[in-house]
Amino acid sequence: MTYNRSGRSGLKLPAISLGLWHNFGGINTYENGRALVRRAFDLGITHFDLANNYGPPPGSAEESFGRMLKDDLRPYRDELIISTKAGYYMWPGPYGEWGSKKSLVASLDQSLKRMGLDYVDIYYHHRPDPDTPLEETMAALDLIVRQGKALYVGFSNYRPEQTREASRILKRLGTPCLIHQPNYSMMSRWIEDGLQDVLDEEGIGSIVFSPLNQGILTDRYLNGIAPDSRAAGPSVFLRSEGIDEALIAKVRQLNELAESRGQKLSQMALAWVLRGGRVTSALIGASKVGQIEDAVGALAQPSFTQEELDRIDRILA
Ligand code: NDP
Repeated sequence: MTYNRSGRSGLKLPAISLGLWHNFGGINTYENGRALVRRAFDLGITHFDLANNYGPPPGSAEESFGRMLKDDLRPYRDELIISTKAGYYMWPGPYGEWGSKKSLVASLDQSLKRMGLDYVDIYYHHRPDPDTPLEETMAALDLIVRQGKALYVGFSNYRPEQTREASRILKRLGTPCLIHQPNYSMMSRWIEDGLQDVLDEEGIGSIVFSPLNQGILTDRYLNGIAPDSRAAGPSVFLRSEGIDEALIAKVRQLNELAESRGQKLSQMALAWVLRGGRVTSALIGASKVGQIEDAVGALAQPSFTQEELDRIDRILA
């Protein structure tokens, strides 16, 4: 495993991290999730990413992870970076979502209880809140660090200007932002348009979610929608209707390019987000142990020729 420094902090993160958004809920088989986490850790993936609402049902991914800590990982707590988040809908009433101090503090207390932890390594505000003053949300993150319930803080889904402003508030409070968690893949490149510059200026790292575009940037859908795939399952975030012939025609061309590089498409997609060293970690999901092994294998062929990069741009134009 390669470990990259997160921005201008002291913390290094694995180039590949594992998220527990799908496949770790109460509806999933505990032993499969456990095997995924054990294999990941054995391959040097020291960072596991959660959120209050991951499941389904919401909260159950944290409960499963708490069980894995008890069963396997507890002796290795100091080798692990565990993150969670709050901001999306979690419980009824005015305090169960968004970014008030009340909501962020209460949600983290619930998450710590579900996982059986005293502290998380990184606590995120999961999405910007248009109504709560940024000063209050940042003060909540600062408070949580001072209380010892999180070591570092981050934001997810914040746009460039909000990121700059939030980062400046946190610096004034004495708790600099460690990391930003945006969506980024060959098929979703918005962070190149301003956010990455802000992160460089502010010294903030980045961990990019859905680098495989939920499985589209793999060989998963080349021959139709497999019954055990995310698109065939209950997830509302990837629907089979969205995977049409035009999309798959592009994926096929990308797959050929990956083959010519001696890689799987999933590996090329991960190498692509990590190219040039601007991204600290690629945050993948997995339903099978082999997918985690594929991801780590991406690090064997990290570089691209300009011609390959241009070809990717042309295919996706
Ligand atoms: P990916 O883009 O990595 O998609 C993961 C899915 O792709 C897997 O579940 C699997 O799907 C498929 N896949 C992975 N590897 C392979 C492979 N080698 N071959 C074929 N198929 C493969 O990421 P996710 O969308 O899962 O997101 C990753 C993490 O990012 C989440 O767990 C969460 O921690 C974080 N996240 C954060 C968000 C935020 O708002 N901050 C939002 C979304 C995610 P299949 O089930 O079909 O096998």
